[in-house]
Amino acid sequence: MAEYLIVPAGGDYYSVTSPEGRTYSVNLAAETCDCADYLYRGQERPCKHVEMVKRLLERGVIAHRLTKKAAA
Ligand SMILES: [Zn+2]
Repeated sequence: MAEYLIVPAGGDYYSVTSPEGRTYSVNLAAETCDCADYLYRGQERPCKHVEMVKRLLERGVIAHRLTKKAAA
């Protein structure tokens, strides 16, 4: 089974690395991604990377870290 690596990248951004070693930048709030699939079909539906981040967050696998006022 393919394994993806998902890492919080600050703010609403998550870095998703595919089993092939390609890294995509997902903005969870805007539900955008910089992969080719999103570029072609993102207006119709989020790509699998956005879905993946959302699913993991729902299951509490990764924390949604807020950077706003982090120094306060
Ligand atoms: Zn994507």
